[in-house]
Amino acid sequence: MHFHILTLFPEMMMQGLSTSITGRAMDKGLIDIEATNIRDFTKEKHGHVDDYPYGGGAGMVMQAEPIYLAHQHVMEGIEARGSKPRVIYMTPQGRVFNQEIAEELAKEEDLIFLCGHYEGIDERVLDMIVTDNISIGDYVLTGGELPAMVVIDAVSRLVPGVLNNDVSAEFESFNDNLLEYPQYTRPEEFMGRKVPEVLLSGHHKNIEAWRLEKSIERTKERRPDLYEKYCKDHNK
Ligand code: SAM
Repeated sequence: MHFHILTLFPEMMMQGLSTSITGRAMDKGLIDIEATNIRDFTKEKHGHVDDYPYGGGAGMVMQAEPIYLAHQHVMEGIEARGSKPRVIYMTPQGRVFNQEIAEELAKEEDLIFLCGHYEGIDERVLDMIVTDNISIGDYVLTGGELPAMVVIDAVSRLVPGVLNNDVSAEFESFNDNLLEYPQYTRPEEFMGRKVPEVLLSGHHKNIEAWRLEKSIERTKERRPDLYEKYCKDHNK
């Protein structure tokens, strides 16, 4: 899976994503991540990529041309492979990201992420290149880099082989609209608190039933919205 990022801060993206599981996935060649610096495509002699908004108002707006050229540059390599990638603009005005969208994006071969900064991006270039608008939640951040990292991390762990154990991506929160059950590891007793007996029993059917019960309990308590969907799907 190939991730391409258009950003003003490529080092931030690469440093963040080269650590831990996504870093190992890159080393193994399961994913590759390429960050393109939008600033390399400005024709302005001082390297500016932003300007004042027409109509006035606070802040600066990223200009269309450097982004258009950076996108064209990235597309040359991708089109040579015959791929037609989705271009995702990370924006608080987008569809709110969730596990279902992560699963949908994990089916793609290439994804291009566009990270905005300042007050945002000139609308004309967005109209020309963007296929999807995605938000990571109803709050405003300073830039699209952290949101793009969030999406790339969530999508990467769905790529076969990225997690050591493929089963761990299958039975976790948001599958079947349930949150995951509580987890325990050694020691059996910690400051007087014992691991639930059933988990030590070795009885797989009972363990499975206990986990499902805890998942349902937890979802009902913490995420009534998801619990409602779960009940609907299971005619409860
Ligand atoms: N003026 C814009 C608005 O009100 O919609 C917000 C611009 S924000 C300060 C700068 C950039 O950060 C955006 O272009 C976007 O790329 C990114 N960003 C901020 N919050 C985000 C969020 N919740 N999800 C995804 N991207 C976000």
